[in-house]
Amino acid sequence: MSNRILLLGAPGAGKGTQSKRLAEAYDIEHITTGDALRANKDMETEHGTPREYMEAGDLVPDPVVNEIVDAALSDADGFVLDGYPRNLSQAEYLSEQTDLTAAIFLDVGEDELVRRLTGRRMDPETGDIYHTEFNMPDDEEVEERLVQRDDDTEEVVKDRLDTYYENTEPVIEHYRETGELVEVDGEAHPDEVFERISEIVDDA
Ligand code: AMP
Repeated sequence: MSNRILLLGAPGAGKGTQSKRLAEAYDIEHITTGDALRANKDMETEHGTPREYMEAGDLVPDPVVNEIVDAALSDADGFVLDGYPRNLSQAEYLSEQTDLTAAIFLDVGEDELVRRLTGRRMDPETGDIYHTEFNMPDDEEVEERLVQRDDDTEEVVKDRLDTYYENTEPVIEHYRETGELVEVDGEAHPDEVFERISEIVDDA
């Protein structure tokens, strides 16, 4: 059976970067609710548009997000799930849909999260992530097209982190209690983090 990996952690913990690498290395789907919602920001739903929630750093309502995940899971054999579940009711929904090979938590402290998020830049063509202080592209053409996500501004980052501590930390706690959670030091170098995650997946 293919790997079904959950990557948990705060915004800025490195879920996107590591998921991308995992998806390539293990030939599995990268399912990310954040990217799916960004691509459908202005979609009208009975709860309004995703944009309203995202720009406030709030969670988009469960029915909208669960539907995205449902569709993605039914198309995927193996997957790495990035940015979902973000509250306990999503975790419950997920457990009704599929079993997991591993639930991995990238642990990063709050000061480091703020530093990473506010300096984060993205290449809109490849989705690759850079940082104004520690990691800018060598290619000037790439550098010129980098953008900051609307919700990576200092003001929204604070709200997103509040939302994380309130809604998503209980999810981490839940997987800790079920004995499924494996913790990784998310402040280590990205290559080291990837090595550690790969070991966990290989041993699972
Ligand atoms: P991300 O790219 O994972 O940081 O997600 C960006 C934004 O999309 C979040 O701040 C939420 O507003 C929304 N979002 C992403 N995933 C979820 C989810 N599982 N549940 C609710 N809202 C989500």
